[in-house]
Amino acid sequence: MDYNKLAELVFPDISGTISYLEEIFPKRDLKECAYVTRFAPSPTGFMHIGGLYAALISSKLAKQTEGVFYLRIEDTDKKREVEKGVEEIIESLSGYGITFDEGPFENGDKGYGPYKQSGRKEIYQICVKELMRQGYAYPCFCSEDQLDKIRQTQEEKKEAIGYYGNYALCRELSFEEIEEKISLKIPYVVRLKSPGVAGRYISYCDPIRGKIEMPENTLDLVLLKSDGIPTYHFAHVVDDHFMRTNLVVRGDEWMASYPVHKQLFDLCGFKTPSYVHISPIMKMDGAAKRKLSKRKDPEAAVGFYLQQGFPVESIKEYLLTIANSNYEEWHMKNADKTGADFKLSFDKMPVSGALFDMAKLMDVSREIIAGFTVDECARQITNWAEKYEPVLYQFAVSDEEQFKRTISLWKISGKKVRKDVAKWSELMQLFDYLYLPQESFEQAVVYELDDKYTKAQLTEAIEVYKKDLFLNTDNWFDQMKKLGEPLGYCPNMKEYKKNPESYKGSIADLCSIVRVAVTGRKNSPDLYTIMMILGEDNVQKRLDHFLLQLSC
Ligand code: GLU
Repeated sequence: MDYNKLAELVFPDISGTISYLEEIFPKRDLKECAYVTRFAPSPTGFMHIGGLYAALISSKLAKQTEGVFYLRIEDTDKKREVEKGVEEIIESLSGYGITFDEGPFENGDKGYGPYKQSGRKEIYQICVKELMRQGYAYPCFCSEDQLDKIRQTQEEKKEAIGYYGNYALCRELSFEEIEEKISLKIPYVVRLKSPGVAGRYISYCDPIRGKIEMPENTLDLVLLKSDGIPTYHFAHVVDDHFMRTNLVVRGDEWMASYPVHKQLFDLCGFKTPSYVHISPIMKMDGAAKRKLSKRKDPEAAVGFYLQQGFPVESIKEYLLTIANSNYEEWHMKNADKTGADFKLSFDKMPVSGALFDMAKLMDVSREIIAGFTVDECARQITNWAEKYEPVLYQFAVSDEEQFKRTISLWKISGKKVRKDVAKWSELMQLFDYLYLPQESFEQAVVYELDDKYTKAQLTEAIEVYKKDLFLNTDNWFDQMKKLGEPLGYCPNMKEYKKNPESYKGSIADLCSIVRVAVTGRKNSPDLYTIMMILGEDNVQKRLDHFLLQLSC
């Protein structure tokens, strides 16, 4: 067979050559140890937390070696694409502080684009044509039915599934047969003519997993689909070569494809980049570990965390603890530094599934929020609430100083920084009495005291208290004692403990009654500060409402 003639027959309009491509996409001028990494998602509108994890690792590896991190959009499957899918990827990653040196955006083309695979059709065809010239690619006219039959036979005979050996019906078509089929406009794909030999092994070194041995690829896989669009395998090899990627960081579900990729790099005459296969993010499901599933687990979506109001700092911090087992220890020793200063190393990356533990993320996030200033909390909460919690947003923007006072209240207690809040959505559950307007809060006032007091006693306590509530605010606690004593609430705790039966209760009990009346809760940060924030009117209304509830 004259392969040159075949290549001209199949690709009459393609005149470019691989050496031309080598010229227009030259080797990058970088330090020898600099990594060129990429994030290569499909624009399906769904960003998996595992994608964010991979992007974080790739971008850090590029940054810490003064390399390049770019975005390549794998949009060869038009059926799965959604409108604005690319913008969403860029936006959601930039929300996590992950930015690209190059990519399909304004000013992102630094000479290695187009960065969307849909714009690179000619580049792929130049490369396939070259493979065809060398006898490593051929057109295949098999119909779906024929392929099904091949598979059925293989299943019956318990043989390896795929297009290879004697099953590769179009492998040995003559030039004349191909020419005729093309002239009859029979649709065809272009397949690799694999030179792989069954039983022969290849090996490579994965920096996380060490030496890996795998059988050589023997399948004649599809390189170009019938519409001329490449498959992932082929596009990956061509793009990573001409975009000059030297480190492919990808999920370990792609490990099995390494032999075909290695074979394609070799046949095209390209240097194979290094490959790091990162383990997927898993969760515990009962006693078993399983991959976080897009379908079953809401927490598989990156958007879930933003919606819940986890600060991006918390997510990044947590992902780094998963990415490198020494990260937490490093951060404890380097409390003044941030994750951006940490250098990832392959030998500390998990080999089997990395476990995503929500309780741990919450702990990490409480620490992160505790480290924010009140101003930073106010800024982040306002941004979050604008999108997800309109009532809180109104509160935050209507009086910023007042809003900051509420933050100080739940964040700082005397000299201590409290660690109650892990995500902004918790504010409306933990501190609804601060943020809900009076009308909505009224329904939330829950009468939940135990039956230590009769309704009449509670009413009496609140009635008295209500009257003199804001009289002497300088010394609120003394005022409470003064009001409580004639009602039978012992002002002195020691004394109360000695003779509890001589009193209705202690001053702490009285405070507790008032606390429930004002906040609907038995526990809260400093009650006096809460009342100062709420203001007299508001507090009076709540006490009235409490009395109303008691009288029903
Ligand atoms: N589009 C592929 C994915 O999203 C890319 C895999 C790779 O990084 O090569 O899984």
